[in-house]
Amino acid sequence: MEFVEVSEGLARILVPKAERIYDAPVFYNPVMALNRDISVLAVKLIEPKTVLDALSATGIRGLRYALETPSEEVWLNDINPEAFRLILKNAELNLGVEGKPLSEKRVVFEGEKKLVVNLDDANRLMSEKFRYFDFLDLDPFGSPVEFLDTALRSVRRRGVLAVTATDTGVLCGAYRHACLRKYLANPIRGELCHEAGLRILIGTVVRYTAKYELGVDVLLAYYRDHYFRAFLRLKSGARKADESLHRLGYLWQDGSGRFEYGQGFLPDKPNAYGPLWLGPLKEQKFVEGLLEEARVHPLAHKKTLPFIELLKEELDVPFLYDTHALARRHSLQARKLADMIEILRGKGYTATRTHFSPMAIKTDAQFEEVIDALRKL
Ligand code: SAM
Repeated sequence: MEFVEVSEGLARILVPKAERIYDAPVFYNPVMALNRDISVLAVKLIEPKTVLDALSATGIRGLRYALETPSEEVWLNDINPEAFRLILKNAELNLGVEGKPLSEKRVVFEGEKKLVVNLDDANRLMSEKFRYFDFLDLDPFGSPVEFLDTALRSVRRRGVLAVTATDTGVLCGAYRHACLRKYLANPIRGELCHEAGLRILIGTVVRYTAKYELGVDVLLAYYRDHYFRAFLRLKSGARKADESLHRLGYLWQDGSGRFEYGQGFLPDKPNAYGPLWLGPLKEQKFVEGLLEEARVHPLAHKKTLPFIELLKEELDVPFLYDTHALARRHSLQARKLADMIEILRGKGYTATRTHFSPMAIKTDAQFEEVIDALRKL
């Protein structure tokens, strides 16, 4: 394997030379630096002692956690032997110490902090390390569902689970049957698909956690660059699990673009999309903390800071109004977002941009008011 050295945050890593990222024997995607930046900031805020990067590839994510956060013990795991060997190289490069093999498949680096590099199926490792990790990161190819049960064994009962899902085609309704199989949920297509996809993902995690008598608080969940990401704080207890389940429900949308949603374990009328999470997608204090950290931390991606600013400003209510889609549905001309927001604010409503789409707004105004604002061209 030929390598090139790249820097990201405080880490330097060797990555395989390849024409296209998916051809490389070990995966590294520079676009995901924003995902890793936000994750590093989140770990700084959460202050976990033990961290698992369960699907580590080059090791970049786990190494950044070790180098850029106060965490004490970081595990980096991958099933691919080539990835394992590369993570070992990258750990030596960054820590400046040699690892001590505990077995053929596990090497420990003891320096300022402990780093463990492991070669195994993530499900087997997570089964072994029962209630061990304060922060557990699942960053798979595609869907995280095949790792959820063991992740919930391995994360502590008040720990934080971070999940990425890159199967947006599934969660956004392009492959409906795959969504029914993997997430046991009916996805929606059209302008609400990204927000609904994110809410289906969270709703699925909530249903997995409930059986272990765990509830979920969403610290932050977002959509970006064709992936979903959620930081979920677990809460121990049957009542907490029930409370989280009560925040699941369904979405309906008609041909005019009007949507409604309602909580409930089962839909109370036909043509429902979901089940999906109807609770908040952020804790405002958490996002403000991320922003404060982002202003002083050496970030790897130039869009990380403005993206967190956008998340901070966004009104956190279920479902957005896509001005272009609504204009199309009503044979109107699309207005500038800034004008729409101004009109709605002028009428006393809250209205903001949303990170889900540069053409959409979030508002507490009724559907008719939004259409009315569009008509006033
Ligand atoms: N987290 C990495 C990052 O930020 O650069 C990227 C991880 S990549 C998307 C997914 C990785 O999961 C691959 O390196 C693959 O070898 C590994 N993988 C796939 N199935 C696995 C399994 N069952 N157990 C452990 N690793 C697995």
